[in-house]
Amino acid sequence: MAEVGVSLGATRAEQMPRGELLEDAMQRFGHLPPEAILKEDLLRTGMAFDDSALTDNEDGEVKPKSYFIFSFDHRELPELGTAALRRPPEEIVLTGGPFGLRRTVVSVRVNPASPYRVAAGEDGLLRLHVDGRAIADVGLPPMPEYYRHALGNGKQVMEVAPTIQWGYLIYLTVFRVCQYFGAKEECQYCDINHNWRQHKKAGRPYTGVKPVDEVLEALAIIDEYDTAKLSTAYTLTGGSVTKTVEGLAEADFYGRYAKAIEERFPGRWIGKVVAQALPKADVQRFFDYGIRIYHPNYEVWDKRLFELYCPGKERYVGREEWHRRILDAADVFGARNVIPNFVAGVEMAAPHGFTEVDAAIESTAEGLEYFMSRGITPRFTTWCPEPTTPLGRANPQGAPLEYHLKLLTVYRETMERNKLAAPPGYGLPGAGNAVFSVSSFMDTLPPEPAG
Ligand code: SF4
Repeated sequence: MAEVGVSLGATRAEQMPRGELLEDAMQRFGHLPPEAILKEDLLRTGMAFDDSALTDNEDGEVKPKSYFIFSFDHRELPELGTAALRRPPEEIVLTGGPFGLRRTVVSVRVNPASPYRVAAGEDGLLRLHVDGRAIADVGLPPMPEYYRHALGNGKQVMEVAPTIQWGYLIYLTVFRVCQYFGAKEECQYCDINHNWRQHKKAGRPYTGVKPVDEVLEALAIIDEYDTAKLSTAYTLTGGSVTKTVEGLAEADFYGRYAKAIEERFPGRWIGKVVAQALPKADVQRFFDYGIRIYHPNYEVWDKRLFELYCPGKERYVGREEWHRRILDAADVFGARNVIPNFVAGVEMAAPHGFTEVDAAIESTAEGLEYFMSRGITPRFTTWCPEPTTPLGRANPQGAPLEYHLKLLTVYRETMERNKLAAPPGYGLPGAGNAVFSVSSFMDTLPPEPAG
């Protein structure tokens, strides 16, 4: 593994004007939907927003960005200009334009320096521009009715139980910090603890540990006003618990929310949890509490990079044990329902990452085959190089687009080879159907009935 820069070909391509890079990628990766190519580039680079495309926060007609766990921005809040005061939308939906895009839902990551800009034209309609050229029509998420009703104590539903993926997923970050703390433990690309600090500093409501009662009250509001039943799943998540929170270890801490939710709203939503890879007895408790999908995220496959970039996970559990527990979890949940995430792109992050796209892909593909050959379907989120993280600071451009497109290619091939269908709990796959907004893996898979 070399220590400097990325391969010459990928570097040259990255220096092209962005519109040219995009069109070149659409030609070279003609087997991928153009929607997925553009989405992946937007997710790794972020977007700038004209003031006309910002929201009026809780009081407007557009659903604001909730900052549901990480910042997913390329600048700290004070550097976002108007977007720090009037939040950007949670997501945008792209259609039409010169590529004839089918409906494409993209999570919003703000980057004032991005070559991509959302702005209104003279006709008042919002469009996405690259290098000043309009390339897609932009739709904004309407403010859901349930966001207009506060809890009894005045808290916003958006703060307690935000929804993402165009309303499909209720994202319950019930523990807003991680007990892997500081440079020697925090995952080197993760800003959960910083995001907590910056929102507190800005005076925004940001509850550290969400009381169970508040979560139930917010869910009751969603249940009452989501009459179209768009919300389909909830995710319980937050930082890792290495000691206890409110006297509870990780499985019982996150599990208590699932238990309360399933008792109050039995089967209303698919219950998921993102947590550490825990011993089998703890995993069984998640299941017994009512969770049906388990995400024990393995973050990055390469052994050395896992040790360097996920020092807390390496120290408390260790890579081999982490993987063994993922396999064990299949005995409890069924292989289809164990869906570990990895952060696509950090394997190319300096100072220790792969410098050749193909070497990074080869490593990641090895991990995909390891799990998929056992019936477990990993999924990935596209790395956002947040500026307060060590890897974000060292790699403000993120990973090359070429890496992301080769990953989409090998991901789909590995699924097909192992005869796996799209993982459950993500809505419909296929360009034009997908709602999963933080990577384009679902946009890339062939259309099929919902899992
Ligand atoms: S385990 Fe790592 S990625 Fe997850 S919240 Fe903690 S520091 Fe962040």
